[in-house]
Amino acid sequence: MLNRIIFLGPPACGKGTQSKKLAQHLQLPLLGTGQLLRSAIAAKTPLGLEADVYLKQGLYVPDSLIENLVKEWTATKPSGWILDGYPRTLAQAELMKKTPSMGAPNCVIGMKVPVEILETRIEARRQCKDCDVVTNTFVYSGSSCPAPDCGGTLYARNDDALDNFRMRHQQYRSLTEPLFDYYRSRNTLLEINGNQDPDSVFSQILQHFNSEQCVN
Ligand code: AMP
Repeated sequence: MLNRIIFLGPPACGKGTQSKKLAQHLQLPLLGTGQLLRSAIAAKTPLGLEADVYLKQGLYVPDSLIENLVKEWTATKPSGWILDGYPRTLAQAELMKKTPSMGAPNCVIGMKVPVEILETRIEARRQCKDCDVVTNTFVYSGSSCPAPDCGGTLYARNDDALDNFRMRHQQYRSLTEPLFDYYRSRNTLLEINGNQDPDSVFSQILQHFNSEQCVN
């Protein structure tokens, strides 16, 4: 059974949206490391204060800041998990493989979207302050959250400013993109064209999960 799943992809490729859909579909717990850090920053915890320095500059946080959190979280999820945003470097992937509570992922969903499309998505992205729902100004032009019974305020993430996005994308190209080859050579990579509407992306992912090769 594919139950140790990770999502790889550049900022705004849709991995947050797709990982949520898949977690619901497979009934697996989901951890988004970027969201975890943003919540810590909003709550001004010691981790948040440390992470904020890096996120403000569009830089990845040091491995030491994130690895124990992911280790501890996965250790409490023996039936499997989905990770959105971890591992993001070769060092994190190697560490993951060697950590008994994690192990190597058995499915890696690698999403690709051209950078000019990512830039238009980044400028349109909005998130809810209360429930963290993510939407965009292409599909929704209101200023309050479209989720049922929420009504929270929508905001543009600080790290979605164009300069910050370009730095994050540069970090992605040099530190995360090599993981595509790393997992391809281990036969765990499912490469997905993320430059389609979210439902089409998801049905492509589901085709893989429904294929015979993936039944148990
Ligand atoms: P995301 O929400 O996935 O776009 O992540 C937002 C930011 O959180 C990234 O640009 C990084 O600064 C930081 N971050 C999230 N996950 C990691 C990770 N595994 N390693 C290093 N930095 C991370």
